[in-house]
Amino acid sequence: MLFFNKKRILACALLLCLLVCACVPLSAFSRAAQALPFTVVIDAGHGGVDGGVLGVRTKVKESDLNLQIAQLLRERFAQAGVRAVLTRTNAGGLYGLATAGYKRRDMERRREIIEESAPNVVLSVHQNYFPSDRTRRGGQVFYRAGSAEGQALAASVQERLNALGGNSYSPLAGDYFMVNCTGYPSVIVECAFLSNAEDEALLLTEEYRAKLADAVFAGVLAYLA
Ligand SMILES: [Zn+2]
Repeated sequence: MLFFNKKRILACALLLCLLVCACVPLSAFSRAAQALPFTVVIDAGHGGVDGGVLGVRTKVKESDLNLQIAQLLRERFAQAGVRAVLTRTNAGGLYGLATAGYKRRDMERRREIIEESAPNVVLSVHQNYFPSDRTRRGGQVFYRAGSAEGQALAASVQERLNALGGNSYSPLAGDYFMVNCTGYPSVIVECAFLSNAEDEALLLTEEYRAKLADAVFAGVLAYLA
């Protein structure tokens, strides 16, 4: 027989009250605390006729994975109250018509979006490819040589990517358009290696893409803090 008495009902009601009181103000507080006065540009590398590199097993396009991860990042920054600007929001490139000079127009438009946004951080999302050693895997972060801010940002993101367990790398200076084209702290995040079958399999799961986005997001927030 179930045993209900007034004391027990009162205790349950009290417990419920405590739970509600404990949870509601806490979530309201954390939302308010997360409204951060920062702007992040999230650049999904490649797009349109430029698919980037292809997965070694499935030929999945880098450009599609980059966009998916960029969109996950945007969600996370937006939820934290950080203004997040994507350079591209669909599978297309930013060059207009794919006529001569399209790659240059595409890169130039990305630079313009960064300049217009005046961001605190620029993240360019890519996937790596290293066919001469297909065992190489994990995330690698690049910054502009001589940029102390870029290096600090890269180190913070790299640390979180290393924690995902693929491989441990140090952030690397790299001579790439996306880290050179403006003076804002910028990094290229090579999330994983599409030349490595295990990394490719992980990238094809929503779960791992979410983990990557969480790691990059945490690295950027730690840098901004
Ligand atoms: Zn790429």
